[in-house]
Amino acid sequence: MEELLERLLEECRPYTTAGKAADYIPELAKKDPSALGVYVIGSEGKHSWAGDCRQPFTLQSMVKPILLLQALLDNGACAIQSKVGVEATGKPFDAINAGERTLDSRHINPMVNMGAIVMCTLIHGSSYEERFQRLMKLTGQLVGDDTITIDQAVYLSEKSHGSKNRALAYLLKSHGILEDDVEEVLDCYFRACSIQVDCRGLAHMGAVLANRGRLPDSNRRIFPAPLARYVNAILMTCGMYDGSGEFAIRVGIPAKSGVSGGIMAVVPTRMGIGIYSPALDQKGNSVAGIRLLEKLSQELYLSIF
Ligand code: GLN
Repeated sequence: MEELLERLLEECRPYTTAGKAADYIPELAKKDPSALGVYVIGSEGKHSWAGDCRQPFTLQSMVKPILLLQALLDNGACAIQSKVGVEATGKPFDAINAGERTLDSRHINPMVNMGAIVMCTLIHGSSYEERFQRLMKLTGQLVGDDTITIDQAVYLSEKSHGSKNRALAYLLKSHGILEDDVEEVLDCYFRACSIQVDCRGLAHMGAVLANRGRLPDSNRRIFPAPLARYVNAILMTCGMYDGSGEFAIRVGIPAKSGVSGGIMAVVPTRMGIGIYSPALDQKGNSVAGIRLLEKLSQELYLSIF
């Protein structure tokens, strides 16, 4: 496996110059665009890796499945679906999914910004601090590291350049979908996006979802199996935003990207994969990351289709 990962990594290295690191969050533009790393954790607990797989980066949108999972654990699927839908929007992650005077919550899903902001309001806790601490605990279990912290510079950068997310949140508030204080909700969302991980953490999270809620090393269950099926299904249809259909054809596994350049991928029953390469395509997905996953999928017959 290690040899295969090394070879595919070298084959994909030229693609690190085929995109551009996100700069709408200025701190993300400071990342080394030539970084490329991959980490795989098999269901039986075997670890394999290549390249810059221990370089830290922020979860960004890869926190969306965790927000969804926490909201599901706290409320159940029915309550979630009364707030947001489960259909792909076919639009960019930060799109305004609303009409002139209408906002149909079924036109939002938990993998786009509007839906993820709503998820923050559904997490239980007597304060937003408590909600965030509960989210951190679940995140620590998912990534297999309870010492995780947030990247303060990215958090502040995103908070001070967050006009678009503020606009989305106020729109949700004006339509009664979000009731809490907008700044408090957004602070939780920005902090969640700024949680620092590496490829190993992403692979661990993928492996837990692949094992339907069980930790890959101890087999201990951290959430019920039906929730893994729920999250994996939404990852498959919406995880790569408006690139999800093409990704389903090229790679064919549930996955979630983030504008930091990470991709967390789930091969149900088989493995979790974490990838990092900050140069993004127009849709905000890692160019070399998708290419690497595509090759890995071909070599190991990973597509679920
Ligand atoms: N924090 C980013 C934002 O809200 C997350 C988006 C992403 O990773 N696609 O814009």
